[in-house]
Amino acid sequence: MKIQENISLKKFNTFGIDVSAKYFIEADSAADIQNYLNDPKLSKHPLLVLGGGSNILFTNNFDGTVLKNNLKGIELIKEDSENYFVKAGGGGVWHEFVLHCIKNNYAGVENLSLIPGCVGAAPIQNIGAYGVEQKETFHELETIDLHENKRVVFNNSDCQFGYRDSIFKREAKNKYVITSVTFKLNKKPKFNTSYGAINHELEKMGVKEISISAISQAVCNIRSSKLPDPAVTGNAGSFFKNPIVTKDKYNQLKKTFSNIIAYPVSPFHPLSGSETGKGRTGETEQTAQAQWKLAAGWLIEQCGWKGKSFGNYGIHKDQALVLVNYGGAKGNEIYELSEKVLQSVKEKFGVELEREVIIV
Ligand SMILES: Cc1cc2nc3c(=O)[nH]c(=O)nc-3n(C[C@H](O)[C@H](O)[C@H](O)COP(=O)(O)OP(=O)(O)OC[C@H]3O[C@@H](n4cnc5c(N)ncnc54)[C@H](O)[C@@H]3O)c2cc1C
Repeated sequence: MKIQENISLKKFNTFGIDVSAKYFIEADSAADIQNYLNDPKLSKHPLLVLGGGSNILFTNNFDGTVLKNNLKGIELIKEDSENYFVKAGGGGVWHEFVLHCIKNNYAGVENLSLIPGCVGAAPIQNIGAYGVEQKETFHELETIDLHENKRVVFNNSDCQFGYRDSIFKREAKNKYVITSVTFKLNKKPKFNTSYGAINHELEKMGVKEISISAISQAVCNIRSSKLPDPAVTGNAGSFFKNPIVTKDKYNQLKKTFSNIIAYPVSPFHPLSGSETGKGRTGETEQTAQAQWKLAAGWLIEQCGWKGKSFGNYGIHKDQALVLVNYGGAKGNEIYELSEKVLQSVKEKFGVELEREVIIV
């Protein structure tokens, strides 16, 4: 286990924020994690487990140990008549896992193509895009409990998945290292093209027969054309979640803002959404639903933030949900901008936005 001291985290977070970590270790095996836990010098400091750093905003130097999870590997552990059970190391790259599934005809994660980050972080915020959430194929995950130094397994209900949420963003936050995740993938694909943009892209690609690989390619094309590449412009994707409001609140907003973008939340419409919240069929027979999900990007745009630049940071010109570092911005400048966005949405619409990105 190699321990580095006072190193810059700039290349380890997609916002490209230049802060430092007091100690930095890369865990290539469970034994490295054990070594960390047995090291009295390191384990007395606060710990941050890091995957791809694509859902984090650093606002300060980290005065503790950053443990970069590099546990890799993908293994088919069992199968039955309907499913493949595939176990992947927590530090593996998520999109590489998706590509592996597509190559082997394991269906279910194709809509989640090209989401940055690691396999071990996917359950943390129950990643979702284009009508699908990872919880739909999640089977179980293995962790090391950082306080008890023992292996703990979480099944689907233990994780308490919600919209961009799980127990690991709440009471289990910073208590475990996720070492592997097992997914239950389908032998017979259930294609999900509920987002209009996918069908449109499939047509553009000239796809005659739908397949998981065609859907994955369509999703990759859409994402590459509309989301800023963190290698070029620092960002962490959607900074805020799409807020969920009561039907009464939605009706009240609709009276004043007739073109508001919103989607009913019901058992038939799981709380998943694409990066921008666009492309879903709008209100139809579901007007009677109890809750509505508002497109946060639309709310932010209406407050005049889209494309606003403040020197080396700002809000993306095409995606009002995406806060960007043009180079050299401080994490707290971006945090303060997010605070102003929150306040203006609250003032204009009476709706409280919640950050999706984890602030450290
Ligand atoms: C351009 C762009 C597009 C994006 N699009 C989407 C999208 O469509 N849908 C979506 O849901 N998200 C999206 N995201 C957000 C991000 O990709 C996901 O949240 C991803 O799962 C984060 O993975 P990561 O490895 O980078 O996590 P990190 O940012 O490294 O960590 C996130 C949190 O998880 C913890 N953590 C990470 N790994 C472990 C582990 N092994 N054990 C315990 N804790 C751990 C960290 O401590 C931190 O609290 C996007 C981000 C970007 C930059």
